[in-house]
Amino acid sequence: MQHRLLDENDRVAANSRFWLGERGIVALNVMGAPGAGKTQLLERTVRELGPSVPVSVLEGDQQTDRDAQRIRAAGAPVTQLTTGSGCHLNATMVANGLRDLEPREGSLLFVENVGNLVCPALFDIGEAVRVVVMSVTEGDDKPLKYPHIFRTADVLVLNKSDLLEHVPFDVERCLTEARRVAPPLRTFELSALTGDGMQPWLDWLQSLVRAPRQSTATRTRP
Ligand code: MG
Ligand code: ZN
Repeated sequence: MQHRLLDENDRVAANSRFWLGERGIVALNVMGAPGAGKTQLLERTVRELGPSVPVSVLEGDQQTDRDAQRIRAAGAPVTQLTTGSGCHLNATMVANGLRDLEPREGSLLFVENVGNLVCPALFDIGEAVRVVVMSVTEGDDKPLKYPHIFRTADVLVLNKSDLLEHVPFDVERCLTEARRVAPPLRTFELSALTGDGMQPWLDWLQSLVRAPRQSTATRTRP
């Protein structure tokens, strides 16, 4: 039964991935524990990237549309996905959200997953990139304790770097262990609160929307 559910999920995810790819929309599945600063990171990203790159957001939460309101206030179109007792997003929720949100061609789409370091990693939602957001107020041994989510991630954002002087967090240890779990992992250390370290993250995001447009052009050439 579990396998059949995952097969169905993967089929819906594959449809979404094709639909997004055809439109040059790059979808990022943003995962992390509650309080890691996922919404805070997206708020600042929307504010700083918004003028140059079209950005929209699917906002997953168990209850309330508070995070969606924050994203809307930052200036991006957003659709709320409320999971109720569900502790992760699945491909069907995201596919339904896409129909409502109608992201623009050549845009970035952030999907903020439910705050949880375990099962969101098990569900393909049709994303192109998986991002784990972790804050320096969490344990620096999280990559070893929750290896699956790090193993499936493409990017690790270490947030709240402004608090490093107040907490016993070993950045080198965390990044080294995360890369040992997931060798190709790309890492960013930043503070979405102060804006410190945001530029490399923004530059990398901008490079993502340029790349698929070129590949679409190549593919449609006769
Ligand atoms: Mg949030
Ligand atoms: Zn779950």
